Amino acid sequence: MALHVLESESLAALVNRSTGISAQKCYQCGKCSAGCPAAVGMDIAPNVVMRLLQVGTESADQKLLCSYSIWLCLACHTCDMRCPMEIDLPGIIDVLRSESLRRGAVNPRARDIVAFHKSFIDNVRLFGRMWEIGLIGEYKVRTRHFLQDILLAPSMLVKRKLSLWPGLHGRLVSRIFSRGPGRLEKTR
Ligand code: SF4
Ligand code: SF4
Repeated sequence: MALHVLESESLAALVNRSTGISAQKCYQCGKCSAGCPAAVGMDIAPNVVMRLLQVGTESADQKLLCSYSIWLCLACHTCDMRCPMEIDLPGIIDVLRSESLRRGAVNPRARDIVAFHKSFIDNVRLFGRMWEIGLIGEYKVRTRHFLQDILLAPSMLVKRKLSLWPGLHGRLVSRIFSRGPGRLEKTR
């Protein structure tokens, strides 16, 4: 669904318009946070993400957009499997990420994660599949972590974990991207 953002609307309204989910459905049982494998590293637990959306003030929205949590989510769907209201938290977090990028509010701690996301999307759009060497190269250029994990490369090549050439499906996938531009792509 296209994300045409009205400047005056709250994040809860944006989430509702983009996903059809009402933040008010959450009744703060905490089951999502209890099962979340990434919660231990998050600055805002998943149920608190929902609570801030419900609050809906400018400062609550700002706190959400600047949070580290929205980038730490693994999209593993443990939370919505446990949620008695079947709230699609990863879908909500996807919208928050997009809006955080659009407003330039990305948490500085999440810079490498964002670089990985962008490199991943570029890789799939260009080659139609995950070409690991292309992904690693673009990620390193974006982050300047040129020497990080470099010693792993030879053994991965020997074990054929890295293919030297990309696949040939890029044109077809490029057409799919051109029909519906990805959210991350729109933020550039
Ligand atoms: S599990 Fe669902 S209802 Fe419970 S706090 Fe999390 S989002 Fe809200
Ligand atoms: S999808 Fe994200 S928020 Fe939900 S349990 Fe997994 S890591 Fe946690």
